[in-house]
Amino acid sequence: MIILDGKATAAAIRAELGEEVKTLVSKTGRAPGLAVILVGEDPASQVYVRNKEKACQGAGFLSETFRLPAAVGQAELETLIDRLNARDDVDGILLQLPLPHGLDSQRCLERIAPDKDVDGFHPVNMGKLTLGLPGLRPCTPAGVMVLLQRYGLSPNGKKAVVVGRSNIVGKPMMLLLAEKGANANATVTVCHSGTPDLGAVCREADFLVLAMGRPRSITGDMVKEGAVVVDVGINRTETGLCGDADYASVSERASAITPVPGGIGPMTIAQLLANTVQAYKAHCGL
Ligand code: NAP
Repeated sequence: MIILDGKATAAAIRAELGEEVKTLVSKTGRAPGLAVILVGEDPASQVYVRNKEKACQGAGFLSETFRLPAAVGQAELETLIDRLNARDDVDGILLQLPLPHGLDSQRCLERIAPDKDVDGFHPVNMGKLTLGLPGLRPCTPAGVMVLLQRYGLSPNGKKAVVVGRSNIVGKPMMLLLAEKGANANATVTVCHSGTPDLGAVCREADFLVLAMGRPRSITGDMVKEGAVVVDVGINRTETGLCGDADYASVSERASAITPVPGGIGPMTIAQLLANTVQAYKAHCGL
């Protein structure tokens, strides 16, 4: 059984991007710029934003974080997004979710210029993903695809099951796995809370991607012998962080599995950096 080490793979990707950025800066005279907007005091969001800032700095980006109080108005938040859309030194804008109650996150996401939408959540980028056109892809599912590629695990011609249909993970995951191409091309089934016999569907999967947010709810008996299991879930429990898979029993049946933590979490941040470089190159006409 292989443990798919997202932490080490993400570190390698960040180092590669750092080298690429050095070369690009010598051509353009400026570093890629990422603006992060953090509203309110949510402790998990604060940790995520700190990790993103650190990763950006490590790769030679300019990262600027805008911390706004939870009481900020929708109009003020949208004005900040407009200002960042207009700045030439900002290539990417990331709005850390969830926003405090009273703020309309969808409206804010749609306010971000699609070419600076490094989270890939703007309807234009989601539309491009659906149509199979180039664009900025959502970081977490894109990070899953890169991790599989780096381990030489191609879902081409295989049966993939995605558990969860959220806009940020499940839905784009389904689309990326089903894309035409040697590193995708899976036959995909999507499960959700309305799926009657989840275990029966999961047991058919050669590639099983879990994005439910339900701690340890997928057990070994729900997994096909030899399956590749990607656990996107990050759940805070009394005993610490865990995924949606019951790691002990699932790892006895899987041929490969991502740990939590140290799996898809770091890959998501690496993909954010990759998306920012993609946006920067497009802005610089490279
Ligand atoms: P979400 O918006 O709450 O979506 C959860 C999905 O799981 C929904 O589609 C839901 O179905 C489905 N679901 C819930 N219980 C189920 C059940 N018993 N059987 C079948 N399906 C079920 O969550 P999310 O934002 O996609 O996040 C999912 C997990 O990934 C969370 O643990 C989150 O923390 C983690 N996450 C990790 C990263 C990372 O960087 N590693 C990034 C993003 C999210 P319905 O649609 O029917 O409600």
